Amino acid sequence: MAETKYDLAIVGAGFSGPILAAKIAEKGVHPQTGDRLKIALIEAGPYFPGEPRPGYGSPLRRQMFTNLEDNYDGTYLWDNDRSRAKIVGGSSLHWGAQAFLPFEADYLHWQKETGVDWTQENLREGVAEIRREFNVHPFPGEIDTPGNQLFYEVASGMGYDPKRQEGARRNCIYCGFCNSPMMCKYESRASTVVTYIPVAEKNGVEIIPDTHVEKILIDLQGERGVARGLVCSSGGSSYELEADKIIVSGGFMGSPLLLMRSGYGPREWRGNPIIVENPNVGQHIDGHARTPGVSALFDEPMGDGDLANIGGYYMIHDEQADGEGRLLFRAGFGSMRLPSQAALNSYAPWYGREHKKWIKEKGVLRTGSLSPSNSKPSGRWYIDPDGQLLYGGDHSRTIRRAKEGRAIAYEILEKMGGKQISSLDTPVTITPRTGGSHKVGSCRAGEDPRTSVVNQYFESHDVDNLLVCDGSAIPRVTTGNTGTPQASLTVFAAGRIIKRHFS
Ligand SMILES: Cc1cc2nc3c(=O)[nH]c(=O)nc-3n(C[C@H](O)[C@H](O)[C@H](O)COP(=O)(O)OP(=O)(O)OC[C@H]3O[C@@H](n4cnc5c(N)ncnc54)[C@H](O)[C@@H]3O)c2cc1C
Ligand code: SF4
Repeated sequence: MAETKYDLAIVGAGFSGPILAAKIAEKGVHPQTGDRLKIALIEAGPYFPGEPRPGYGSPLRRQMFTNLEDNYDGTYLWDNDRSRAKIVGGSSLHWGAQAFLPFEADYLHWQKETGVDWTQENLREGVAEIRREFNVHPFPGEIDTPGNQLFYEVASGMGYDPKRQEGARRNCIYCGFCNSPMMCKYESRASTVVTYIPVAEKNGVEIIPDTHVEKILIDLQGERGVARGLVCSSGGSSYELEADKIIVSGGFMGSPLLLMRSGYGPREWRGNPIIVENPNVGQHIDGHARTPGVSALFDEPMGDGDLANIGGYYMIHDEQADGEGRLLFRAGFGSMRLPSQAALNSYAPWYGREHKKWIKEKGVLRTGSLSPSNSKPSGRWYIDPDGQLLYGGDHSRTIRRAKEGRAIAYEILEKMGGKQISSLDTPVTITPRTGGSHKVGSCRAGEDPRTSVVNQYFESHDVDNLLVCDGSAIPRVTTGNTGTPQASLTVFAAGRIIKRHFS
């Protein structure tokens, strides 16, 4: 069992938790004594320790992450939900490492949505640090496919402005295995395990794995709550842990669910007694809503299948100067796929000789897609009183822009010589069950306590000694994937937290 009294307890060792632990342990001190801080980093999933060796892998992790099968338990997901990992390193161990650092519109949308002062200028150092630590750089020319280059020429010729995508990797051999929720056994993909966890450990942070935080202990003092500790369970027994400050970094679902289980949230919550009410917990969840993409079959292979094409080009299409309704197109032509994905490709003949021929001749290399993602959609998800994630709001702009994006993609694919292009007649529908990716905002930061959960310093509006810092604090989804923007924001958050609480 862990010790039971800490200056700081951080819940969740995914993307944000380890960055906070490392930076606060390195630079922060106890505000009264000036002593080194006693910090616990608590994670529900397992920890496989080892020296970071990007490009080689550390022995234990290499053993654990080799020859994993799709959907295998060892991918450490919460209830087989691909959007949430449960392991020290969290989603940073199974993300795609596609790096889209924040775009100008993203900063503006954060400020516009809830008034936070997360400006480009304020985040400059955080972005620079993540670019350096995660080795963010454009995908190299040698993994480019002829199909992607053709896309670049056609789209540029039509007046668009395609750009080379960036990735967050070190010594990557582009084998393509991690083009799925599986870990890189060589540890080339940037993760907090090879970047910030070693710094945290070197600076005395205690990593407590296989421990589920059931509840934050919140006392009521007048109208306000005061957090004083955690109820943890591990190996079938539970214990209490005291902490002067608690930072919740459990991800866009884990964080609001923990707050609600602890009696902090909307009044209606599974009959739980709510001690401190805030109707915004578990609401306003923004993300990239799933809409149908457009793909095509080509006469000739669009790639040689030698190196996995993981990153190609992207292009942005705006209809308004402020970026609302923005579309981000990702080009993927001639990409090699895992055998299971190649066999189930929508162009693969269903069965028998033709199917065998398709696999033998690597038919999947003749396919390509141009997927418009609604990077600034109009709806929002929310967690209902039964704990279900539902999508609601006005989706008219999302549907209209998805249709427009599909039409643009169709035109480009046609000009590239694509055949059997996905029909534009496929309806774009959004329902309460519509899924999506890169969800943020379930405990969003903002100026006004009536519409947000934490302030721009990541401190709870309603509960003293409690902070939330992870994807759930971000008020609007970013243009591209959220991992690197969130990591940059966390570096910035660590600076603020040290200044206000640990100096
Ligand atoms: C399959 C996939 C691919 C992605 N690809 C990309 C990409 O290519 N580029 C990009 O920029 N972004 C990508 N992302 C997004 C990015 O990974 C996320 O934005 C980011 O990981 C979220 O970080 P987080 O700290 O909020 O949560 P997580 O990394 O999920 O960390 C939360 C951690 O908290 C733990 N936890 C939760 N509740 C508790 C509890 N009660 N007690 C103890 N521990 C708890 C969890 O086990 C988990 O380890 C991808 C995400 C997924 C899922
Ligand atoms: S492509 Fe993925 S699995 Fe292969 S070395 Fe690079 S990061 Fe690792």
